[in-house]
Amino acid sequence: MIISKKMQDSLNEQVVHELHSHNAYLAIAGFIDSLGLKVLSRRFFEQADEERTHALKIINFIMDVGATVAVGAIPTTTNKFKTVEEAVEASLKQEERVTAQINNLMALAQKEKDYATASFLQWFIDEQVEEIASMSDLLSLIRRAGPANILLVEDRILREESDKHPT
Ligand code: MG
Repeated sequence: MIISKKMQDSLNEQVVHELHSHNAYLAIAGFIDSLGLKVLSRRFFEQADEERTHALKIINFIMDVGATVAVGAIPTTTNKFKTVEEAVEASLKQEERVTAQINNLMALAQKEKDYATASFLQWFIDEQVEEIASMSDLLSLIRRAGPANILLVEDRILREESDKHPT
């Protein structure tokens, strides 16, 4: 194996964090669906899928460098939300936590002169910039619309999606 035992264990821990995010987004998607907000709910189901992809990406890297995959227990996630704003705030906090975790992994890679892992992690560093930006934008939009106009948020997301994928 071309990475340290400590790096192997830290990457395996990150797999758990990504799967925890996956579960947290499923819970949020379910809550939002229960309010009848199908467009916003779909966005969180897609976000959940992305987190699973992140976990798989790390698992593949662990295998590629000849280290051992060990998937630990996934901490429980909250299913109790009062408002959409609260759920999206929790999502932004979650992305900030993951950003700190990825930064810590990068710091470890640099300390160990583990350039293979550092190069691999660069994608996650860039990804987190995107994740924080899009979640902050969504939270601002939700706050601006307010609870009475939450359907405008759905309209906006739909419009953005059709701009991205014109039919
Ligand atoms: Mg992630």
